[in-house]
Amino acid sequence: MATKAIESVIAPPTPFYVGDGFRVHHFIPGHPFPTMQRTDPFIMLDYNALQHLEPSETPRGVGAHPHKGFETVTIAYKGSVAHQDSHGGGGVINEGDVQWMTAGSGLLHKEFHEKEFSRQGGDFQMVQLWVNLPAEDKKTQPKYQAIKAAQMGQHTLDNNAGTVEVIAGNYNGTQGPAETFTPVHLYNARLNAGGSAAFSFPKHYTTALLVLEGNIKVNSGQSIPKSHFVMMNDAGDDFQIEASDEALVLVLSGEPINEPIAAHGPFVMNTRDELIQAFEDFNLGKFGYLE
Ligand code: MN
Repeated sequence: MATKAIESVIAPPTPFYVGDGFRVHHFIPGHPFPTMQRTDPFIMLDYNALQHLEPSETPRGVGAHPHKGFETVTIAYKGSVAHQDSHGGGGVINEGDVQWMTAGSGLLHKEFHEKEFSRQGGDFQMVQLWVNLPAEDKKTQPKYQAIKAAQMGQHTLDNNAGTVEVIAGNYNGTQGPAETFTPVHLYNARLNAGGSAAFSFPKHYTTALLVLEGNIKVNSGQSIPKSHFVMMNDAGDDFQIEASDEALVLVLSGEPINEPIAAHGPFVMNTRDELIQAFEDFNLGKFGYLE
């Protein structure tokens, strides 16, 4: 088995606000790299790095907005987000939880800091990842998987190295709870200082790392500081990460869908005609109603 090496290390881009509640580093698609073709099936990744929120009586966030043709995966590391959609779905994503939302055929959505969390203020840290759907699944009915922290697969590493928490896919026999349309592995690697973890994914899968806390080394080489994003190449299968100090790393690996991508904002289709149709459907109110 050949070693999978680093293709590119991306420093956190200048953050911007999504709505008035989410201050994000926008890693996917990157400008100029990586494109969403390169990160297929992952088409968007926003990272709200650890931030202290002042108390606010009025919850901040982002009001009604559409999604169509893909899935949004929200990972709450610190703080709480309340969400609601035009299909009657809703709930609260608390610290340690993941919400896997299939937008599929289309819905309206809103996301705000949870009311009580907003009132008290506190630490906030969150990732939102968008996973594309194959053409045949873009018309699927919207649904949620509300995954609680306690449901995650937990794989204890040897040598007191830490744990790999499995959200989706499989790590050395430990299965994650999320159901996916195409093969996706999504883990939180929580490593103790000096701890290391080995990973193996098929060569052609898109594989990337986001360092949330600590410093890591990949394949005993380059040191990667926190809030940096690492694209791995497709020349090998195996790699390992080592924590220089206590570290938290989001590990993503997915099989590319390899279909054309026609994307504009919150609509991700295969052709320009489908994109135009999506806008028309949205404007005609076919995504439902949300106050
Ligand atoms: Mn949304």
